[in-house]
Amino acid sequence: MRVTRVLASPSPNPLPEGEGYARVCLLLYAEACSNIAMPAKISALAISDAEALTVLLELLAIPGRSGQEQLVMEFLTDRLRQAGISEAFITFDTAHKKSPHGGQVGNLIVKLPGTLKGARRMLSAHVDTVPICVGAKPVKRGGLIVSADKNTGLGGDDRAGAAVVLLTLLELVRSERPYPPLTLLWTVQEEVGLFGARHVALAKLGKPAWAANFDGGSPAKITLGATGGYRMTVDITGLAAHAGNAPEQGVSAIAIASLAIADLQRNGWHGRVERDGQHGTSNVGVILGGEATNVVTDKVRLKVEARSHNAEFRQRIVNEIEAAFNRAVSEVRSASGAVGSVAIDGRLDYEAFRLPDDAPCVQAASAAVAGCGLTPELYVTNGGLDANWLTRHGVPTVTLGCGQRNIHTVSEQLDIAEFQLARRVALALVSSDS
Ligand SMILES: [Zn+2]
Repeated sequence: MRVTRVLASPSPNPLPEGEGYARVCLLLYAEACSNIAMPAKISALAISDAEALTVLLELLAIPGRSGQEQLVMEFLTDRLRQAGISEAFITFDTAHKKSPHGGQVGNLIVKLPGTLKGARRMLSAHVDTVPICVGAKPVKRGGLIVSADKNTGLGGDDRAGAAVVLLTLLELVRSERPYPPLTLLWTVQEEVGLFGARHVALAKLGKPAWAANFDGGSPAKITLGATGGYRMTVDITGLAAHAGNAPEQGVSAIAIASLAIADLQRNGWHGRVERDGQHGTSNVGVILGGEATNVVTDKVRLKVEARSHNAEFRQRIVNEIEAAFNRAVSEVRSASGAVGSVAIDGRLDYEAFRLPDDAPCVQAASAAVAGCGLTPELYVTNGGLDANWLTRHGVPTVTLGCGQRNIHTVSEQLDIAEFQLARRVALALVSSDS
């Protein structure tokens, strides 16, 4: 019965029952493949792996540390125009004007109406790299891309993501594959505090229902949550005096800083912080001050951060840091009783977020990853991501990797097979009908 029903519609010449049954089995198998095992479908790409690799190598070679992304943006917009994307769909926002770092250019946004009905979705990646990657000379070594110059990082974080987003759009255009309303976002200044994502022009995004952000790591790793971070600048002012003739008349800012750090370290508020079942981290990352041994140093600046997935606990860490510096100030006095002072300037870098496991973007990402023959791994990170701000702006965002390893170091590598898989995951994400 089943055989007859299926064959009744499309075939003008019904097959004998035996052969027909075999054909139905094949049809059912093909349908199962199209739902579960995507590789057969997705592996037939209009843009070959070799062509994709060439685009990636070109993107990796462009210098573009945070705030200096103009050349990368020119490369991307050139490629978009060559592919025939209408100018009407390509815009830049002015996020850089709201960043304390200034910068050459804002985020690049491409908003397409799509060829299918459905909820708008978004793909994103940041285009800036950490400074160590400027001057990278990307070369292929076996299955990896590395920088031939041993003194530079590669910048796969996150040019690989930028390439995945670009190549996904180029693939859609060239293959004429149908897709729903789609926004592509290339952000600036991720590495220096997520400023591109933080100040993105929301109105230009067209209210995506969800987004997938392509950044570091494996394409099977789906990051659905991240910690929140708070950054502080601590300025200590003491009293200068001749270190040989009259050190007792001075107030050493270095001594104050040392006492405060020792206090935090001894009491468990520096490094990994665990208290009352809550978790977080803190770090004094920068200490600047002093010019000579013969002067009691009167000015020291420190840069300190605190992170926790729990906003209240993060605030508690911040409070402990402030209290330690205030206590230390009162402990260092000159012979005449003078004390120094401390000024602390802090700001929230990004708020923590955690999407539910069954959020539509998590499910779509899991299906896309599984469809490409990988096992999805759900993950929550202690780093900050553009996804922190995008999610806060009302666009629930998962983050997937593109094969980057050892990021932010001179031994950074990019796994080419994983990069090509990320391309297929991204395509599956914009081709799926969920
Ligand atoms: Zn990154």
